[in-house]
Amino acid sequence: MKSITKKEFKDKLLEELDDQFEVDISHASNLEIYRALATVVQDGYAKLWRQTRIEEAHSGKKQVYYFSIEFLPGTRLRSTLLNLGWMDVVKSGLEDLGVDLDEIAAQEPDMALGNGGLGRLAAAFMDSLASTGYIGNGNGIRYKYGLFKQKFVNGYQVELPNDWLQTSKSWGVRRDNKSEIVRFGGKVELVNDDNWLVPKYSGTNDVAAVPYDVAMVGYHQDVVNTLRLWDAEVPAGAELQYPTIADRRKVEDLTSVLYPDDSSYEGRLLRLKQEYFFVSAGLQSILHYFRNSLKQTDPEKLPEHIAVHINDTHPAMAIAELMRLLVDEWRLDWDKAWDITQKVMSYTNHTIMAEAMEKWDINMMQEVVPRILQIITEIDRRYVISLSNKVSAEKINSTKIIKDGKVQMAHLAIIGSHSVNGVAPLHTRLLETVVLKDFYDLFPEKFNNKTNGITLRRWLQIANPRLSDLLDKTVGEEWRSNSTKMLELQDQYDNSNVLTKINQIKFENKKDLSDFIKVKTGIKVDPTAIFDVQIKRLHAYKRQTLKLLHIIKLYQDLKNGIDHPKRVVIFGAKAAPSYTFAKQVIKVINEVAAVINSDTSIHDKLKVVFLENYDVTLAERIIPAADLSEQISTTTKEASGTSNMKLMANGALTIATMDGANVDIAKAVGKDNIFIFGLEKDQVYSYYNNHNYHPGEIYHQDKEVAAILDSLINGTFPKAATEGRVLYNNFLQDNEEFFVVKDLKDYLAKQADVEKLWKDKKSWSQKCLVNIAHSEEFDADSTVNQYATKIWHLKKLNSGK
Ligand SMILES: *Cc1c(COP(=O)(O)O)cnc(C)c1O
Repeated sequence: MKSITKKEFKDKLLEELDDQFEVDISHASNLEIYRALATVVQDGYAKLWRQTRIEEAHSGKKQVYYFSIEFLPGTRLRSTLLNLGWMDVVKSGLEDLGVDLDEIAAQEPDMALGNGGLGRLAAAFMDSLASTGYIGNGNGIRYKYGLFKQKFVNGYQVELPNDWLQTSKSWGVRRDNKSEIVRFGGKVELVNDDNWLVPKYSGTNDVAAVPYDVAMVGYHQDVVNTLRLWDAEVPAGAELQYPTIADRRKVEDLTSVLYPDDSSYEGRLLRLKQEYFFVSAGLQSILHYFRNSLKQTDPEKLPEHIAVHINDTHPAMAIAELMRLLVDEWRLDWDKAWDITQKVMSYTNHTIMAEAMEKWDINMMQEVVPRILQIITEIDRRYVISLSNKVSAEKINSTKIIKDGKVQMAHLAIIGSHSVNGVAPLHTRLLETVVLKDFYDLFPEKFNNKTNGITLRRWLQIANPRLSDLLDKTVGEEWRSNSTKMLELQDQYDNSNVLTKINQIKFENKKDLSDFIKVKTGIKVDPTAIFDVQIKRLHAYKRQTLKLLHIIKLYQDLKNGIDHPKRVVIFGAKAAPSYTFAKQVIKVINEVAAVINSDTSIHDKLKVVFLENYDVTLAERIIPAADLSEQISTTTKEASGTSNMKLMANGALTIATMDGANVDIAKAVGKDNIFIFGLEKDQVYSYYNNHNYHPGEIYHQDKEVAAILDSLINGTFPKAATEGRVLYNNFLQDNEEFFVVKDLKDYLAKQADVEKLWKDKKSWSQKCLVNIAHSEEFDADSTVNQYATKIWHLKKLNSGK
């Protein structure tokens, strides 16, 4: 690592301020200081970055390219400082200059090029690849506008553009000489050239893909990897293709917006173009690198040097695009190209929700990517032939790529990859036995599980310095680079000093969050209350609705003189702009919150706070202050979840269904250290198969349930009358898919257990301690190690230490 002394740092910062803004520190704004500091940091890793690129080409070691349509890294400054090993020097250097690092860091907008868990995982993997010493590159899109900013107006969600580049351009380095041309539309005709059928294109629209490289600095490592994000521009020399401003804007709009929806697909044509754009640019640049930097001429050597990972199906066209490049441009015969492609590609499935399974209409593909459609058609034709007379016609039909005029992207991804993984054991099992069963029967060797993980560096070291400090003092500092050491915290289970400290730290963090809540919302909350947290995208399957019904129950009890411990329920959640039901849930929660928060008759026993604009930075504030982690999705629906892991690492206890990685958390901490409730997988499938779930029966038999639901429609929350009625009807529909009413009683009972335990401070702290210790199991560094060794077959770079 390149270390820096405090004096060197201060001199450099002052120099930068002078160079960039011609100000001295006493007159500089926080934004100016942030920009100068970012430049000093970039200079700090520039040499290592260059050196990594030279060494990786020189060593010829295999590299992975992680293709993802979303990356959600959050802010860059503090995590780069941490990884560089500069955090303490910079903090104290700034203090000498009368400046607070937190205030400077707050100037940086989130790099929010993702919706939620999927993008966050991609960002975590980038951090872990560098931090574990592997060569790993990200490949994605540099959206001009990140995920929308959320505001509440009259309790409704309003979406505002997130113009993050205004202040944070500096983290991407534009590399014009690495630009690629991506071809769209037009006509393609195959003509014979020297006994090779080559495509002849006419009337295409050519777009320049210009890369912006973002450095991914490894934690106390000499490896600095690259996240390459592509921007769309009018190609130099193609100005005549785009004569008007409107034409040019159309090109640039290709990378303007991130689709704010990870479950249903709007603006489909543009979305399809985005997918092909970053896939084609990425693969072309890989092959240029292979030829020019690795000096390789034999494409059959490609799998020895390159692995391409397809993060969910959005980049699945990579399979057809690599075939195109190998067959059309390298003139390799089909079978050889196919063998290479399968060896290079691997795929992660992130969902079992049918509506999120991507399918593209062949007419649309014909219009946008005609040559790719030809290639997919040929892949499919050969796939069918390869199985004919070997397996049943039903099996071939259920697994083929093109069906009913649609290209099934998951099928393409599976058929073209050597590895298919799910993201938690339960999820992988469901893929193998239900969702992708026919594929599993045909190719069991492709299937494997890689449970998701989180960046403990961000969620503990950066977000929770107090708890990090306690870990240093109890298990030693090594946990910071080797998280398995956190298990030693378990030895302090009966140490009342440590338990008291855990309690105090949580209280301090809750005071900080209370101040923040006061400033943001005007609501005064008591930091001695239970801080009950549900933070994640707003989605029916995640069941913010179930939490809402619990809140209503608590409120009714308090009004009826039934006492409960003080509780503050904290939500953070964005709804996809086109997802009407999710937006109605937001409205109802906000109106229920308004009634409860202003009802003095319950003596502040219950507060409901819905914080606007949930993003990584807000997560970093909320998570260290959480007592209770709500992971209450309908069993089978949440593939893994990762906020469950972040919250446990910060000493929150989990209330959860046996879904996704909750199952693994329960196993890690033991059933006594988690609150489990709700239907199990087999019960859910039994209802689905027998169509015999009738929530109306429960409603009519159970007065408690009826009273809770009735409050949605009886005027208790008058400003949410319309939306409350929608929710009420939804919950009581026959065969309601998410079992809100079915799981309600069990959930309420578990919440009563939570309250009981809350009164026993020592037991509560002991369970916190167990959760913190076992969060090491979900360190993304070890997840990435498994991908690297079992799927990508990488070796560490081990550069110049
Ligand atoms: C971790 C994280 C998520 C994923 O949360 P889940 O509860 O796993 O869905 C989503 N958004 C942000 C900002 C996150 O940090």
